[in-house]
Amino acid sequence: MTQKIQAIRGMNDVLPADSHQWEYFENILRGWLADYGYQNIRTPIVEETRLFVRSIGEVTDIVEKEMYSFTDSLNGDSLTLRPEGTAGTLRAVVEHNLLYNATQRLWYMGPMFRHERPQKGRYRQFHQIGIEALGFAGPDIDAEIILMTADLWKRLGLADSVELQLNTLGNKDERAAHREALIAYLERHHDMLDEDGKRRLYSNPLRVLDTKNPALQEICNAAPRLTDYLGDESRAHYEGWKAMIDGLGIRYVENPRLVRGLDYYNQSVFEWVTTELGAQGTVCAGGRYDGLVEQLGGKPAPGIGFGMGLERVMLLLQEKNRLPASRGVDVYLVQQGAGAPLYAMQLAASLRAAGLSVIQHCGEGSFKSQMKKADGCGAQFAVIVGENEVANATAVVKPLRLEAAQETVALAAVAETITRIKA
Ligand code: ATP
Ligand code: MG
Repeated sequence: MTQKIQAIRGMNDVLPADSHQWEYFENILRGWLADYGYQNIRTPIVEETRLFVRSIGEVTDIVEKEMYSFTDSLNGDSLTLRPEGTAGTLRAVVEHNLLYNATQRLWYMGPMFRHERPQKGRYRQFHQIGIEALGFAGPDIDAEIILMTADLWKRLGLADSVELQLNTLGNKDERAAHREALIAYLERHHDMLDEDGKRRLYSNPLRVLDTKNPALQEICNAAPRLTDYLGDESRAHYEGWKAMIDGLGIRYVENPRLVRGLDYYNQSVFEWVTTELGAQGTVCAGGRYDGLVEQLGGKPAPGIGFGMGLERVMLLLQEKNRLPASRGVDVYLVQQGAGAPLYAMQLAASLRAAGLSVIQHCGEGSFKSQMKKADGCGAQFAVIVGENEVANATAVVKPLRLEAAQETVALAAVAETITRIKA
């Protein structure tokens, strides 16, 4: 036998038994985004590598070690499977001049690729939904985004399972001043740093504070805080943001150690986290990136957005039992005997035209085995036709999930009989 080929590690299939749950979730997401006036943007999955290096930043986990990059054998270009959605979205916005005399509220959804160690909630192909609000200086839009995400948790029945964390990263100069103080502090504790910490000490000291190593907690807790280096404007932005969130009655905790792993962030940053998925607790993360449009060659424009890991939210929905059971179709059409296949197919067409979903039995099979299939697929009704029904222009309507008797009715009355019994 030929050896079977398997999916790539960390890249998952969604099988029919689970896909209805994804569809349920995606439908809620689409309705939610529409309610806030966001418009969909679809960009390629592959971009030039330098787009990600320039936007995400050279010294980040993603660019240092997680990107799937390859050389285009036709022209030698370095290309990369997108590891996140903001870079491509902003590339498209700049390329197509979407901010000319305009602001934009955009959303995207789709697969992202990172070469990480696969584990629960961490995959090599995963899916994100994300938004980008462009041309708004905030902090009102920053608060609207918090309102919007909080609303989603309510719609999904997860409001009690997630916690909001906020921080501010200030502006460039404030970060530079803090960085200097932080490096000096970390140098004084050099012996106690782990390997990652030593490596990042000069390249990305803020990320040292973002460590998940419990041995470093104490050092990190006592490190100079960026909040102590904020000027009036940054402070006002942060306070304005928090005041609106307070006014909306949304609870949060301030986490001065929240830095985000991508270089493009400034001012407002936030994460929605859960304690119910182990170490992979961040389900939605975002912040402001005011310099990024300019950095990608556009006219300067402020921006803020977030990315949400769909697999992690799905895990949470499963854990909390917030997903619908498979609904199945309305009708399984059981048919046997001379003339029955065509008769049944015409009947099925008229039922679909009346708004019902129908699986028609195709091929051979006894009534008994067809009824088993009808039950197994979760259909609400079996509609049964044999030679008698064909001869009399009737069909048998048999409810499979309700306490109601089966009825033999005229062909033209099948749809209304089903609707009546259902009601
Ligand atoms: P983490 O700290 O968990 O590695 P991150 O900071 O790298 O997350 P972002 O780049 O901010 O994550 O991506 C936004 C969201 O996408 C995350 O909060 C998470 O929900 C999800 N996500 C990121 N990486 C993965 C992955 N490898 N598998 C599944 N979901 C992921
Ligand atoms: Mg990561």
